[in-house]
Amino acid sequence: MTTTHGFPAATILGYPRIGPRRELKKALEAHWAGRLDEDGLLFEARKVQDRTVRRLVQLGLDAADSSIPADFALYDQVLDTTAALGALPARFADLAAEDGSVGTAAYFTLARGDGQRPPLELTKWFDTNYHYLVPEIGPETTFVAAAHQLAGIIRRQKDRGAVLRPVLVGPVTYLLLAKAEAGAPAGFDPLSRIDDAVAAYAGILAELAEAGAAWVQLDEPGLVTDRGGALAAPGGLVERVYRQLASVPVAAGPQANGRPALLVTTGYGTAGDPARPGQALAVLAAAGVEAVHADLVRGTLPSAEALAALGGTRLVAGVVDGRNVWRNHLPASLDALEDLQAQSGAAVSVGTSTSLLHVPHDVAAETALPAHLPAWLAFADQKVREVVALSRGLAGGRPLIAAELRRAEAALRHRAGFDGVTVPAVRTRTGALAEEDFTRGPADRRAGLQQERLGLPVLPTTTIGSFPQTGEVRRARAAVRSGGISQAEYEQFLRAEITRVVRLQEELGLDVLVHGEAERNDMVQYFAENFDGFAATGQGWVQSYGSRCTRPSILWGDVSRPQAFTVPWTSFAQSLTDRPLKGMLTGPVTILAWSFVRDDQPLAETANQVALALRDEIADLEAAGTAIVQVDEPALRELLPLRAADQPAYLDWSVRAFRLATAGAAEQTQIHTHLCYSEFGEVIAAIDGLDADVTSIEAARSRLEVVADLAYFGFSRGIGPGVYDIHSPRVPSEQEIAGLITAALAGIPSRQLWINPDCGLKTRGYAETVDSLRHLVAAASTVRKAV
Ligand code: GLN
Ligand code: ZN
Repeated sequence: MTTTHGFPAATILGYPRIGPRRELKKALEAHWAGRLDEDGLLFEARKVQDRTVRRLVQLGLDAADSSIPADFALYDQVLDTTAALGALPARFADLAAEDGSVGTAAYFTLARGDGQRPPLELTKWFDTNYHYLVPEIGPETTFVAAAHQLAGIIRRQKDRGAVLRPVLVGPVTYLLLAKAEAGAPAGFDPLSRIDDAVAAYAGILAELAEAGAAWVQLDEPGLVTDRGGALAAPGGLVERVYRQLASVPVAAGPQANGRPALLVTTGYGTAGDPARPGQALAVLAAAGVEAVHADLVRGTLPSAEALAALGGTRLVAGVVDGRNVWRNHLPASLDALEDLQAQSGAAVSVGTSTSLLHVPHDVAAETALPAHLPAWLAFADQKVREVVALSRGLAGGRPLIAAELRRAEAALRHRAGFDGVTVPAVRTRTGALAEEDFTRGPADRRAGLQQERLGLPVLPTTTIGSFPQTGEVRRARAAVRSGGISQAEYEQFLRAEITRVVRLQEELGLDVLVHGEAERNDMVQYFAENFDGFAATGQGWVQSYGSRCTRPSILWGDVSRPQAFTVPWTSFAQSLTDRPLKGMLTGPVTILAWSFVRDDQPLAETANQVALALRDEIADLEAAGTAIVQVDEPALRELLPLRAADQPAYLDWSVRAFRLATAGAAEQTQIHTHLCYSEFGEVIAAIDGLDADVTSIEAARSRLEVVADLAYFGFSRGIGPGVYDIHSPRVPSEQEIAGLITAALAGIPSRQLWINPDCGLKTRGYAETVDSLRHLVAAASTVRKAV
């Protein structure tokens, strides 16, 4: 089926790594807990790898022609590339083996720290909810060719009859994602080390060719950002890098000298200059790369001119969405593929837009979805089938896949006409929205009215919402799900838990209380379960980082809120205390960001529907006497488009959705919001635009650097920069917190400043939480005396 360097007709960029039953997660956690030794872990990991290869062959990929990616990171693919390059920061230099390579124990030390040294920083991968470990590169970082782990996998699979395609993060993206190592000279740019990195990549390619790889996949999603895109202009850095890597001839056959053929992928958007779609691909082709991939879901179709310039370079057309769960419109995809093939004058391969890492394994594993839904969905396994069908149709003509085309078309038609997808009452409501639905009265007047109602001291203290989710809380939730306890018993348990948490806060002397969120499994799923238009999956786990997985809900139809659901808990909690207690909601953008969202209408429209559902809940909270409502938007920044030119439109609709959710509140009702990050320089105007009365943000880890930004911007509303870092069990002293409060007062007037932790306390234990909050309250009261 394959010629020497022929690229397979069908492929995927990557596949979920954690295992259909989260086998790898369980093995990793057993290993870290000391219950499974390294050999045991690697044995389990190989089982997952073998299962993946078997499954992909079953689904129609060929094990012998490099169509299956070897994408088997134990923790993270960026960390795998760091390990393959032996690119350790000085603070971890002792972890390298003699030949510069990184063994399994060292690999996990980089990922998880070792008590003395914090791990590499975790941050979001492009505009997704996957997190990678940030490389730390300095002027002295060594780059070696040490892809022993990966080469071992290739060799082992080869012995089993499979020629896999190793996957690495490409050199340009790798350095774009890196940060300057601590101690590097000011202004040091990791990209300045590109030549050394490329030399190491060349070594790695040789190593992989020797192990039997015919093709290697280098992921360059960095080229879809503004900065990386500019580097992909003709004659730019990308061209130079790939010219160099391609200058070694391709090995004529297995074990012959030379390098593997190269596939360069560009998921998550349009590579290069968005005004010249496809130019970056032509640049890579001119540099000598054998195959290039384009994301045709998020990205723009390459221009005819660019396609013509590909010459003999194979185009892998990413027409199947790697990031969402909807069934592909196969007839439309096939049209697009045929056009591409005609214009490029060469064979086109069919692929996914990104790795399938972002979607769950298999729709067939779902037993409790509403009956109409499974036929509309494609998880990873279904997507592989779609890719394979499209490649058969492209090569052999439509009649060959007539049944698949018909089924896809029928499912999409059923979806489009299905009742809950378009709910007239919801449409009427969004259709009638007017500007006043998005605005409240002037903020200073609101502040006065709220203060009259609440009578809070200066520097009021509060928490972000959740209290520790103890084993007891999680067990009770599991028990009610499995039928071990009745709903009534569960609710009684929750009332007892809420009572305890309220008493504790009163005893600690906090000014604004919370109910503690014990009833919530997850801050988005809880809302999805109580809104119409959503469905929850049973096995739809997606890797977030390392062994951590989330189970995004599926937003499939028009959204509304059948009945109040947070009100009973909030009212019960409020009935226990005279102090004000915050109602607690998750904001519209965060609900969208952490769900699989329908793809048949603009996000802005869906966001408004979710906003109206929240608005109804706020109205009911107010009617029940709630004086403060917090609407969390920790994901506001996560969905920020990668291209600066696309950001204003996004910020406009996302901010408006928040305002739509909250602007129905009376002026006397205080609206809080919470954001989980501190670097919001570029979005500070948007945060101001949310028009929340009080905003709490993360700040403790950066020692309140954010205060300077706020002062510079002239932020005029209530603001609570976190003064207690909840990401570690460490208990900050009263003096330390008082120091942070004083630092905050240097930039923020006392009448605006709130005193709170960085984030919710759900991942903490009670011992450290109680001590820390005691110190926080004491510090606030000390500083209060001085203002
Ligand atoms: N209210 C939520 C909590 O306290 C906020 C969590 C978040 O921002 N991620 O847990
Ligand atoms: Zn947070």
